[in-house]
Amino acid sequence: MTQKLLRGRVLTFHREPRDGDDASAYTYLEDGAVLIKDGTIQRLGTFDALRSAAPSTPVTDHRPHLMMAGFIDTHIHFPQVQVIASWGSQLLDWLNNYTFPEETRYADPDHSARMASKFFDQLIAHGTTSAVAFCSVHKTSADAFFSEASSRGMRMLGGKVLMDRNAPDGLRDTPQSGYDDTKALIEQWQGTGRNSYVITPRFAITSSPAQMEMAQALASEHPDCHIQTHLSENHDEISFTAELYPQARDYLDVYQSYGLLRENALLGHSIHLKPREIDALVETGAHPVFCPTSNLFLGSGLFDNAGLRAKGITNGIATDVGAGTSYSMLQTLNEGYKVLQLQGQSLHPLQAFHWVTRGNACVLGLEDKIGTLDAGTEADIVVLNSQSTDAMALRMERAGSLAEELFILQMMGDDRAIAEVYVNGVPCKATLSRHVDTDENSVTSREDNLENTDISAVFPIY
Ligand SMILES: [Zn+2]
Repeated sequence: MTQKLLRGRVLTFHREPRDGDDASAYTYLEDGAVLIKDGTIQRLGTFDALRSAAPSTPVTDHRPHLMMAGFIDTHIHFPQVQVIASWGSQLLDWLNNYTFPEETRYADPDHSARMASKFFDQLIAHGTTSAVAFCSVHKTSADAFFSEASSRGMRMLGGKVLMDRNAPDGLRDTPQSGYDDTKALIEQWQGTGRNSYVITPRFAITSSPAQMEMAQALASEHPDCHIQTHLSENHDEISFTAELYPQARDYLDVYQSYGLLRENALLGHSIHLKPREIDALVETGAHPVFCPTSNLFLGSGLFDNAGLRAKGITNGIATDVGAGTSYSMLQTLNEGYKVLQLQGQSLHPLQAFHWVTRGNACVLGLEDKIGTLDAGTEADIVVLNSQSTDAMALRMERAGSLAEELFILQMMGDDRAIAEVYVNGVPCKATLSRHVDTDENSVTSREDNLENTDISAVFPIY
């Protein structure tokens, strides 16, 4: 049995804040603590209360930093780590020119394994403790993804993409091989450790009707598996899809007619939706996923968060690396804020930080396991330093509220603001290789040495 107490300023959400004044939606403790035993959060409370309850438990003091649940990224492409930031085209050309050639390399298990290690290093460096990933078409890529996730004990969701047409040689499966490989991967990885398999038809353009039938069979045989795909990202994509599926009422109807819409289905982008498609999302409970850095990078369009929410739809938010330009959920919130500003929509920082923690956990149906600091949940925790750059420290001198601090983190923060990351209660960021460990002032080893310090001298008390 290993037990530890993390001390710091603590923030966790109980529900989505209605607005900036909705204080009962969250708990914020100025001198708080999280008691962890064997990777599970036992208790959240003030440091004094938890210290008296567990007097001999070792303490790691993260003050003046802010602890919250680890970030969750609900749409990311593992085999695109080396095509992020590739210049000059919109969706279909970007896929053909950069992404598809790159993904052919993941047939090689050694390459897949090396990139999986680098990919998870990046997630940890940026404070992301859970993600939903597209692997390449190759079974080897999904094996590498889940092997690496297992070795790190991270709660991860992912799947090999099903794609049997409109892709180069070396990057197509067949309806049967895609089905067989997916079955084998589900058998091996679904529910083992903290892994979840995601049935992953890449998108309508790269799957034939015969493959969609196989995806439908997989979905009905495995109702516990999530489903992920892409929807209505780009006008040329929508037109091409209509040519390929002339009988479909609209883009979403392709997926709907093959039984792929349900509460554990994730639809990346969902930008240019027709009223019937929005109604179908409401009826089926499938979740659109907002990918702001990607949508801006590829010039795809503006996600209508408020419009979808007004219908009762719950949206995820994600990086979509490698069309997304940052692994950071902080930078994702930054660009998301601007995309919504362009439409006259407002994203309050308390709502933003709920979104990347408990909100995304709810989208995945995993809020009983991740996304909060509630007792009984898995101890995936991010420690945020809102003074991690000179510019942020200067701005923080004038911050007068928690919301203001969160907004500074959201607009100015990146991996440098991630002071530490705990996965299953184990600190991970400080042990990353040197080139990604940008926080040289990590406080992980500062056991108790700030216990008697008056932190109001070094940090504002709200
Ligand atoms: Zn994507």
